[in-house]
Amino acid sequence: MVNGKSQKVKGHCRCGQVEFEVSATPLITMACHCTGCQQMTSSAFSLSSLFPSTAFSIISGAPVIGGLHGRTRHYFCAHCMSWLFTRPEGMDDFVNVRSMMLEDSQTYKPFIETYTDEKLAWATTGAEHSFCKFPPQETFPELLQKYAQKQE
Ligand SMILES: [Zn+2]
Ligand SMILES: [Zn+2]
Repeated sequence: MVNGKSQKVKGHCRCGQVEFEVSATPLITMACHCTGCQQMTSSAFSLSSLFPSTAFSIISGAPVIGGLHGRTRHYFCAHCMSWLFTRPEGMDDFVNVRSMMLEDSQTYKPFIETYTDEKLAWATTGAEHSFCKFPPQETFPELLQKYAQKQE
């Protein structure tokens, strides 16, 4: 990830059958402590980076829906079952990519953390902003702006 440039970054699942690409810097990076994410990652929290849908494309393979099959849909590799990205309910223009699938995963340190209500007591993420559930809708513009300023 090079800030301020439209450099493309590739990502892939564990087995490599699904490959994708992002062509923008993330709008925000997150850690989620909800029990659903704990179960789907088999770990303490999930890590994701939000991108505009227009900056995300599948290069190879065909992701399948797993996890939630409703209005929020989680996409996986059909072969190795890696969780790749999420299409969140009511956010058709955005895709929430699992940061660990991106080749430069080291750079997507979580800026916010969500669902600390369900957090494991020992789990820490280093995120600057914590929310007991999701951030209220009206706080999003300011959070995105603060994240963007940090990348400058
Ligand atoms: Zn795979
Ligand atoms: Zn979650």
